[in-house]
Amino acid sequence: MLDKRKFYINGAWVEPVEAHDLKVIDPSTEEACAVISNGTSKDVDRAVAAAKAAFEGWKHTDPQKRLTFVEKILSIYNRRRGEMAKAISTEMGAPIDMALEQQVGGGAFFIEGFIDSFKHFSFKTDLVKGHKDSALQYEPVGVVGLITPWNWPMNLINLKVIPALLAGCTMVLKPSEIAPLSGLLYADIIDEAGLPKGVFNLVNGDGAGVGTCLSGHPDIAMISFTGSTRVGKAISKNASDTLKHVDLELGGKGANLVFADAREDAIKWSVLACFNNSGQSCNAPTRMFVERSIYEKAKKIAKEVANNVKLAVASERGDHLGPVVSKAQFDKIQGLIQSGIDEGATLIAGGTGLANGFKRGYFVRPTVFADVKPDMKIFREEIFGPVLSMIPFDSEEEAIAMANDTDYGLTNYVQSGDKEKCHRVATALRSGMVEVNGKSLPKESFFGGVKYSGHAREGSIWGIKQFLDTKAISEW
Ligand code: NAD
Repeated sequence: MLDKRKFYINGAWVEPVEAHDLKVIDPSTEEACAVISNGTSKDVDRAVAAAKAAFEGWKHTDPQKRLTFVEKILSIYNRRRGEMAKAISTEMGAPIDMALEQQVGGGAFFIEGFIDSFKHFSFKTDLVKGHKDSALQYEPVGVVGLITPWNWPMNLINLKVIPALLAGCTMVLKPSEIAPLSGLLYADIIDEAGLPKGVFNLVNGDGAGVGTCLSGHPDIAMISFTGSTRVGKAISKNASDTLKHVDLELGGKGANLVFADAREDAIKWSVLACFNNSGQSCNAPTRMFVERSIYEKAKKIAKEVANNVKLAVASERGDHLGPVVSKAQFDKIQGLIQSGIDEGATLIAGGTGLANGFKRGYFVRPTVFADVKPDMKIFREEIFGPVLSMIPFDSEEEAIAMANDTDYGLTNYVQSGDKEKCHRVATALRSGMVEVNGKSLPKESFFGGVKYSGHAREGSIWGIKQFLDTKAISEW
């Protein structure tokens, strides 16, 4: 078992102030694969003090030099991508090839997006375009607390650490205590890049302890959080006494509108997109609305696709799904599948219980429900497992109304060969992002939602600006 008890504070690996062990469970085997420390307020105080002491120096470092550090981080990250894929695969169950291509690759994609946009960014610009007698100045917000989940660990850590560094902020990162190994390796990469001490600090621990200490800390100016809507609300409340900036990237319940004129493989694509990462993506297209004239055919395809999905332990090479992350998550998903059955949805693939052929590991059966109704739990709640809901519709208006009938608003999807219809529907959907005909967004875009999905905008120049205050100056 790996001993990963140390924290990274003030440019060094240090023992926690008090010893409190937390085990990291490999979801493919249900066995402990590492032990980390559950930090306390004393560790957080130490890390925040280091970040505070480093802030003025980092803020006044030439932006070009900060960019050079980030380019160095990217090159080390790319060199160590094999190690990183193994860490992610072990801690949260992503199949090793998928971890390398999508999980680690996604992190590099976002770093590149930040680098490209920062090259064209100026910290000082005209306040009124073309008027030189006033100015707009961007300034780093200060010491920031970064709290991340376990499902796409490197996307989410990079979406926070890199823009904070470029903006000139110093930071304390708390990765998910369920999947902390990738975060620890990331700290090692930062160490190798030789950043000035105190700029980046990492304290492990749970939400109730380290997370709450960060969100209430008087010396932290901003919390950037990705995780559940429930925790996003708790953080907002705890941060209110110190009037922090709070940026939230939260849950989702993506709608995917498939029209009869969609491309040939639209249904297959939609099912696999829902199941990717074992359904553990905030932007998963979990509610598939299908035009009535192709509904029966779509059900057949979805059933076949789901029944042919291969499941295997995360260390196995090739294309397959891994387990879900934890026993708690497995049990939650089982409860929601059972609720779909009890509430009268038609189960056409999968169902409750451990997937066939497994005696251990948190392997959920890839599940498809048809005839799902808006008042069912599986329509409304974020399941975070490989569970798809299919719902027929008769008109564009009806599909849009059902798609928008949710608390969430992260990513929605449209599949149709009619460009005008795609634009009309994309405009009518209430979400931060819409992906049309399976085309993902470019690296110049942002990641972010509306409503209970939170309102942050991460990625590219949008993400860098989140870590900057604006100052208007007259008589420049
Ligand atoms: P979670 O909310 O349980 O935990 C996320 C992080 O918050 C962890 O590091 C956890 O320790 C910490 N935390 C928990 N309680 C806290 C508290 N009271 N104060 C401060 N920190 C606390 O989420 P999870 O289960 O790790 O991740 C899954 C969730 O993340 C899903 O809801 C998913 O949709 C969401 N997510 C959103 C996005 C996005 O960009 N919108 C991306 C990925 C995941």
